[in-house]
Amino acid sequence: MGPPNKPHSQVTVSDLINPATRDWDVSKIKLILPFYEEKILCFKPSLTGAPDKQVWLATKSGDYTTKSGYYTAVTRVETRQDIPTDNGFKWRSNVWNMQCAPKVKLFSWKLLKGAIPVGERLVQRRVPADPRCKRCGCSESILHLFFQCGFAQRVWHLAPLNTDMDFRGIIDLMSSWETLCSLKCLPPAGIISGSLTPWLFWSIWKARNKFVFEGHSASPEETLSGAIVLAREWNTEVKKEPLTGIRQLSAPVLTHPEATVIRSDAAWAPGSNIAGLGWVLLSHSGNQSFKVPLKSVASPLLAEGLALREAVRSCATLGLNYVAFESDSLNLIKAVKLEVTIAELYSVIADITSFASVFEFVSFSWISREKNVLADCLAKEALNVSDTLVVGDAFIAPN
Ligand SMILES: [Zn+2]
Repeated sequence: MGPPNKPHSQVTVSDLINPATRDWDVSKIKLILPFYEEKILCFKPSLTGAPDKQVWLATKSGDYTTKSGYYTAVTRVETRQDIPTDNGFKWRSNVWNMQCAPKVKLFSWKLLKGAIPVGERLVQRRVPADPRCKRCGCSESILHLFFQCGFAQRVWHLAPLNTDMDFRGIIDLMSSWETLCSLKCLPPAGIISGSLTPWLFWSIWKARNKFVFEGHSASPEETLSGAIVLAREWNTEVKKEPLTGIRQLSAPVLTHPEATVIRSDAAWAPGSNIAGLGWVLLSHSGNQSFKVPLKSVASPLLAEGLALREAVRSCATLGLNYVAFESDSLNLIKAVKLEVTIAELYSVIADITSFASVFEFVSFSWISREKNVLADCLAKEALNVSDTLVVGDAFIAPN
């Protein structure tokens, strides 16, 4: 953006929000950041004052995952240079598809890439550190720490592995990796699937850090049993996993006999970022329809969310007590029920939850598009009323 001018050098995002309406102060945006007006207005601030939240932009949920972090990093590197192929090392089968915890896979990858901050690596990277092994005083390289140091040798010697391999002879980790990971773990260690080897590396590294940073020196026996316990726990956890998925699917849908059913929908015009929001209250005494157009809406999903937010808000204003909201957007319903996290819906979901807290009974459920024709028509009508567009608190037109 370039340097700000003097009167606006201390301005923060909150200065662009009107504290009374909790929506953007358009006149201030026009004054301070005129070229970004549409971009800014596409972010919908929470109307109920939801707390700020940090989100990671490379995932839909806004939560950081090592996978997305890895792809982001790789994409950046790829645009600069070709990635060396590591002599055909099979990263997928040798590391990423290993039968062990994700944190251990990531650690193995770092280990193979030489990206573990051992003394020697730190000094090579000009970090002021002691390059010596804290246990024996030799230069602490990756090979020393994991194979050559007396401590590591003792761990490997004790490990219940079906081998008479001399681990001191390993001079290249990558070319020995497959052999190391295919070593069978002898009973009664209880490790049925997967290899004990990556857990041993993990445990040796943890023991080293505990010694270096906390002064606690675990014995080789403790280090080994730590690795076995973790591997065994992971084995049992993985076996339990499929059960939890089934429980979620069979959760019953609650209803209330007196509940008013409210169906909402949105129509969205991609080029102009204009949305039409529509919702209808179904009751025995007759239906009530609402529609409202809205500017600066960045996506159809956000439009669906804003339609539901308006529906919930209007029902709260009408003083209804028993309400059942329905939408044909499955992602939106999942997000409201907190089954999934969607970063772009954060403020909208927070508002829906906040507005809905006044009802004695409230439910949110998904319906098919065929069932949502009334709300769909209202939303489309609202989209066509383009000459009366307003931002934020738009007009509500009961039919
Ligand atoms: Zn040593």
